[in-house]
Amino acid sequence: MHNPEHHSQKFRLQLKTPRSTRARQYSSDQLYRALYDAIATSALRPGQKLTEEVIGQAFGATRWTIRPVLRRLASDGVVKIFRNRGAFVARPAIGEAREVFAARRILESGLLAQFKKLAKQELVRLRKHLRDEDRARREKDNRGQIQLAGGFHMLLADIAGNRLLSGMLKDLITQNALAVTVYQRSSDTTCRTDDHRTLVELLKQDKASAAARLMVKHLNEIENSLVFEASADDAPELSVILNSIRKRNETNRSRS
Ligand SMILES: [Zn+2]
Repeated sequence: MHNPEHHSQKFRLQLKTPRSTRARQYSSDQLYRALYDAIATSALRPGQKLTEEVIGQAFGATRWTIRPVLRRLASDGVVKIFRNRGAFVARPAIGEAREVFAARRILESGLLAQFKKLAKQELVRLRKHLRDEDRARREKDNRGQIQLAGGFHMLLADIAGNRLLSGMLKDLITQNALAVTVYQRSSDTTCRTDDHRTLVELLKQDKASAAARLMVKHLNEIENSLVFEASADDAPELSVILNSIRKRNETNRSRS
């Protein structure tokens, strides 16, 4: 778990970071989004301890900022807080993981069953998303693939136009990503892009109930590819993960 070589490399990277970038403080919302995204894309792994001190050092935040953010993540169901032990990335038990899949099947097939024929603009958005998924797969961009796979389902919910259901689905997809991280046995357990493509074609042809049935099958296949047994975890150290997230955020910001 502890790799001294990795550690010294990180130290050198930090020395190169300009002072002004290091001093920047994350607001409560920015910290919430950074941690939520890190959990949703499995950069932070289920069961990982979220130490306030380490988060504070990585993001220049005080515990008065960090604690409410951790509580907010706990109310989303992606963090668990234990008295006297602190906060951890949620690690869904087998029963909880199965419940998340069941909830997604009900919610998403219900959404699709009521779908109206796609407008041209919506079809353009969905097809662009499919191309992005293809690219991430080609480039073996694992993090991108997880994000885009969940993003496809979110896009369908957005197009359906029910904000309450979209919000529920966002939390379910994040909890689903946690379950997949814990119980997958091969690294490519994610959505099949050809299913996504077929879903778009069915919706384009106004075949909403066929799309709803395919959605149930699609989610079943992901659930069936998981192995529901207790597993050992080999998460890297929290400080290593958080510093790389922070660095990536800063690179993105300086590009835009
Ligand atoms: Zn999918």
